[in-house]
Amino acid sequence: MDRFDVVIVGTGPAGLGAAFHLTARRPGLSVLVLDREKTSTGGLRNDCKMNFTYPVGFPLANWTREQAEHFLNLTIADLQPSILDKHNVSVYCRRAAKLGVDLLDIRQAHFGTDGGLRLIERLMTELAARGVHVRLEEEARAIRPVEQVLETSKGDYRYGDLVLAPGRHGSGFLQSVMESLQIPFVDHVVDIGIRVETTEAQYPIVRDYYDPKFFFPEQVRTFCTNSRRAYVSQERYEARNGQAYGSVNGHAYAEATRENGLVNFALLRTVMLTEPVASGQQFAEMLGLQAMLMGGGRPIMQRVGDFRLGKRSKAATFNGDLYHFRPSLDDCCPGDISMAVPAKILRGIWRAMKLLDTIVPGVLHPSTIMYYPEIKLYGNKPVFIDGCFQAKPHVYLVGDGAGTSRGITAAWASGIRAATGILGEPIL
Ligand SMILES: Cc1cc2nc3c(=O)[nH]c(=O)nc-3n(C[C@H](O)[C@H](O)[C@H](O)COP(=O)(O)OP(=O)(O)OC[C@H]3O[C@@H](n4cnc5c(N)ncnc54)[C@H](O)[C@@H]3O)c2cc1C
Repeated sequence: MDRFDVVIVGTGPAGLGAAFHLTARRPGLSVLVLDREKTSTGGLRNDCKMNFTYPVGFPLANWTREQAEHFLNLTIADLQPSILDKHNVSVYCRRAAKLGVDLLDIRQAHFGTDGGLRLIERLMTELAARGVHVRLEEEARAIRPVEQVLETSKGDYRYGDLVLAPGRHGSGFLQSVMESLQIPFVDHVVDIGIRVETTEAQYPIVRDYYDPKFFFPEQVRTFCTNSRRAYVSQERYEARNGQAYGSVNGHAYAEATRENGLVNFALLRTVMLTEPVASGQQFAEMLGLQAMLMGGGRPIMQRVGDFRLGKRSKAATFNGDLYHFRPSLDDCCPGDISMAVPAKILRGIWRAMKLLDTIVPGVLHPSTIMYYPEIKLYGNKPVFIDGCFQAKPHVYLVGDGAGTSRGITAAWASGIRAATGILGEPIL
């Protein structure tokens, strides 16, 4: 059986952050990185916009400002981003403040879906040059902690330390590991919302600030804004009962040619469940499946003009009269989102839309499209035994799946933080 000083599961930013830090600090270390896919998944491959300002992406339960800033500096050294210029932010901030809304001034970079693929190539080439063993299309299945063995779809490996960074799509695997290792965890927070699509003319702030981060009352915020050559996309998830549901998302290409004049962004409301509801994931699945029921197996889309009149949108009128741009995600069902979104969530989101329209007038044009559902599962939050995300001796859980991050840069930073623990370096 092969043995490695460190085995890392996942080639997403959390896994790569750990691998880069380990090999930079201790070049002689034997490191194996595994992924069940051919290439890294998630945000590095889709849009790849990066936020370099606390608290965006950093769950407050795990990160102080000082810690996040320390690890963000190391992240910047690895990723070498070009930070985007911003303009007129103080004007928008003043308008927002008058309404009780916060606009955060965030350092951002945008690689785009095309630039993200080039970045992955550069990172994987660099890892190979550092002597890291990378095995793709190999799935981690279980751990035998006493023997320090990881079982995969292709064999077993002995490890000195193990870093599990399987992302949100790997949270089922992570849950099974936590159950078998008796690592306590909670899963009671979820973000539910809509994706808004409109034209750049109706949301011109994106020319000044690529991904503006607005925080509205009632735990509603903007998230993941895309423009220039922007598309709404759909991801498929499988619920525990085996049924599938779709959640919308968005991305954009960095290449300046062939701009389509559209903008999309999410408006999400954070829901924190209390007794007797135990699982945010189950709540989200139920809402996802309900949306599929209302949309005939597809997400729902509705024009703001129809929503305001209390009417469902219909295929026959979806592109008529004032509804002057076509949706970038065609595979959705014109319908009535208020039949599917819980009232409390929809109220907070609609209020946020009205506030946003006062800060950036135009976004509530009748043609603006609201797609539902956009669901962001929070990771299962494990109980750690140290400040470096070690959950059992020699087993580190990091990234979005473990709830230590909510975005590329914080995922990378949390991988570095686990590596810091493995190397016995001090953390702040
Ligand atoms: C469509 C989309 C667009 C996004 N856009 C952005 C963005 O622009 N900016 C941003 O900051 N965030 C974005 N995000 C979120 C971002 O992708 C995540 O925050 C980030 O990738 C989390 O990193 P991670 O390393 O924890 O997990 P991931 O990036 O998900 O990586 C986990 C890896 O583990 C592998 N894996 C899972 N289970 C196993 C297993 N059992 N065995 C082996 N391998 C396994 C997966 O194949 C995957 O490659 C986006 C997410 C999506 C889905």
